Amino acid sequence: MDLELSDEQQLIVDTTRKFVREEIVPLEADLDPDASDLERADHERLVGMTRQMGFYGLDIPPEFGGPEIDIVMRTLMAIEMAQHRAGLYAPCYGVFGGAGLAQLYEANEDQKEEYLFPTLRGEKRGFFGLTEPGGGSDPARAIQTRAVKDGDEWVINGAKIFISGADRADYGIVFARTDPEKGRAGITCFIVDTNTPGFHVRRIVHTLRSTSYATELQFEDMRVPAHNVLGEVNKGFAIANDRLSRQRIPYAAGCIGVAVKAQEMAIAYANQRVTFGDLLATRQAIQWMIVDNEIDLRTSRWLTLAAADKARRGEPFRTEAAMAKLVASEGGGRVVDRAIQIHGGYGVTKDLPLERWYRELRIRRIGEGPSEVQRLIMARDLLGGNFH
Ligand SMILES: Cc1cc2nc3c(=O)[nH]c(=O)nc-3n(C[C@H](O)[C@H](O)[C@H](O)COP(=O)(O)OP(=O)(O)OC[C@H]3O[C@@H](n4cnc5c(N)ncnc54)[C@H](O)[C@@H]3O)c2cc1C
Repeated sequence: MDLELSDEQQLIVDTTRKFVREEIVPLEADLDPDASDLERADHERLVGMTRQMGFYGLDIPPEFGGPEIDIVMRTLMAIEMAQHRAGLYAPCYGVFGGAGLAQLYEANEDQKEEYLFPTLRGEKRGFFGLTEPGGGSDPARAIQTRAVKDGDEWVINGAKIFISGADRADYGIVFARTDPEKGRAGITCFIVDTNTPGFHVRRIVHTLRSTSYATELQFEDMRVPAHNVLGEVNKGFAIANDRLSRQRIPYAAGCIGVAVKAQEMAIAYANQRVTFGDLLATRQAIQWMIVDNEIDLRTSRWLTLAAADKARRGEPFRTEAAMAKLVASEGGGRVVDRAIQIHGGYGVTKDLPLERWYRELRIRRIGEGPSEVQRLIMARDLLGGNFH
């Protein structure tokens, strides 16, 4: 993989870094340490700036109005964009724009008008509803939510758990079993308006993640029009899988971004903090933590860019994306943990962003498929027919 950047590409990465450091980081000084939103006026001003720079809509494909920037460059930018306090949960507070729900690009024209375009314009919000109380690692077996056809409608009954943002959403993408005999070939994907009778947010599920939370949902005789099927009946599982594979690369990039910043902070602190009459940087115990951090960082960065490079070339990248997600989320957690240790007591205070990253990175070893499931994906690809 040739990673030498052209002058123009280097300029894009440098401009993103400058934007984060000069525009985002200073605003965070006045926000709650767990904040996930900017003041409205600041948000609008910064959105205007990213539009002017031509960087707005970074996770939107060019054919839907996103910038003509390939996935390797987008990954490098995502690593820069995460380098601030809310960088994992709310990278740049959404001022680079984005749809979030990539599977809507596969929607039909009417669905695009109704859901995709308003979402791209920031007028509607959606949620992704796959995980159920019976399990999220193996949704093909765990999905119990049932959809039964009744005339021009589907009647949906069931429950979902850990669904991010469903309480603030206008619609959601919901996976339900339409043919119980057929396993993964009997799951269909529906677009569901949250004001549909029978749609209930049962409770907010609070987690380690700052101010944001997940939800538990219940569907009781919820009637969804047949034209709200996304893709084809019984082909919903491929939509879920495709989304999860694609999402793993930016997910890994976010972990790397905060870890880069944590390492920068650890080095700066080790070079100025004196204990027992000398700088921390002179102690081998500290030097080794800094070196181990760098090994974790570089490994994560190379694996993630290698996955992005395969995706850019149109080659299969499932194993590479799984490896990147696993190594970046686990490695990022270790980097932040060591950075906290080097900072001593200050490391666990809310004066610094380290404790927030520590909590949020812990979730990243579970969200979008736990590490064990990433290993399972890789084993399946590596062992082929002999996998059980
Ligand atoms: C904050 C947060 C936000 C989330 N947002 C969403 C969302 O918006 N939409 C959505 O659909 N889901 C969401 N999820 C759900 C998430 O994707 C699931 O939690 C995850 O897929 C794991 O499913 P589970 O929790 O049911 O664990 P289970 O499937 O019950 O697995 C439990 C544990 O067992 C281990 N394990 C599982 N399978 C194997 C195996 N084959 N071999 C060895 N070990 C194994 C893993 O360590 C796993 O963590 C969110 C989760 C969290 C925590």
